[in-house]
Amino acid sequence: MSAPTGWSLADGRDLLFFALPGHTPSPVPDRRPLPPRDPQPSDLRFDRTTGQWVIIAAQRQDRTYHPPAEACPLCPGPSGLTSEVPAPDYDVVVFENRFPGLAGTGAAVATPSPDGAEFVAAPGHGRCEVICFSADHTGSFADLKPAQALLVVQAWRHRTADLLNRPGIEQVFCFENRGEEIGVTLGHPHGQIYGYPYLTPRTAAMLAQAREHRIAHGGNLFADLLAAERADGTRIVASSEHFTAFVPFAARWPVEVHLYPNRRLHNLTELTDAELDDFARIYRDLLGRFDRIYDTPLPYMAALHQYRAAGVQADGYFHVELMSIRRSATKLKYLAASESAMDAFIADVTPESVAERLRAL
Ligand SMILES: [Zn+2]
Repeated sequence: MSAPTGWSLADGRDLLFFALPGHTPSPVPDRRPLPPRDPQPSDLRFDRTTGQWVIIAAQRQDRTYHPPAEACPLCPGPSGLTSEVPAPDYDVVVFENRFPGLAGTGAAVATPSPDGAEFVAAPGHGRCEVICFSADHTGSFADLKPAQALLVVQAWRHRTADLLNRPGIEQVFCFENRGEEIGVTLGHPHGQIYGYPYLTPRTAAMLAQAREHRIAHGGNLFADLLAAERADGTRIVASSEHFTAFVPFAARWPVEVHLYPNRRLHNLTELTDAELDDFARIYRDLLGRFDRIYDTPLPYMAALHQYRAAGVQADGYFHVELMSIRRSATKLKYLAASESAMDAFIADVTPESVAERLRAL
């Protein structure tokens, strides 16, 4: 992949064009009369009862909500007046979210000491980016041509390397929400990338488990689980030269698949080009299986779990967790009291039966 072409939007936000081999981006000036950016659009507040940070980003209430297709802000805008992407066409673009939950630069936030004040807040520093998978308004990641899917994962790798090098960013999270059922407000195929100024609660909990496992067993928790899943085989969904996908033993969602590289690494920047190519292929394969379970495409969330190679994150193991709230052709699973209030998930299908279905598709 050649280096992306940088551009600037009317309110100063960064935009990056990632091009397929032989393509040259041809951006035009962004001529929209955008209001200036709020320099600090969010705050972090620390919840003393759980030990978790919460992001309070009140201005996101005003964000674009289900615009008609002709007003899609992610379709190319050759006039420089209609779109977040001022260009006649593009392959893959990444730009800073106009309504970010995190923005600006500052030091990473430390966990407040237990003897401090009840109410501890901090500026919501960090970065929120949007990644458009294609200039085509319809379709999804699963529909991308192989070269296009590879370009998307190359862009993820580029963003991961860049954001991990920025001061104050603790964790880089590339993710995708697909489907109106899970609150997606723009139909255009896209994902998002967050740079958090702290370790997210789920990552912190998983790393604590991995640390205890290392102390007790000497090995890496995730590597040992992957080896056990491969040896057992009943929950394996797909495998390739470099990757293995399985339904986890204690799956929480009606459809849940975890995708691991066969060798342990921390994030996308450590994948070789051959591994990255294989990753794009098997990731698309899994999403294709998701879309074939029912007559209509499956709403899903895809979460890339990435870690720094050193410090408290060193016990991490890069992997993708894919999950869906659809539990039958017509029914959705809602996170009700047990899940939302107590974090106690109740699944009404066995992981083995879900794996068997996905494997056969
Ligand atoms: Zn569009």
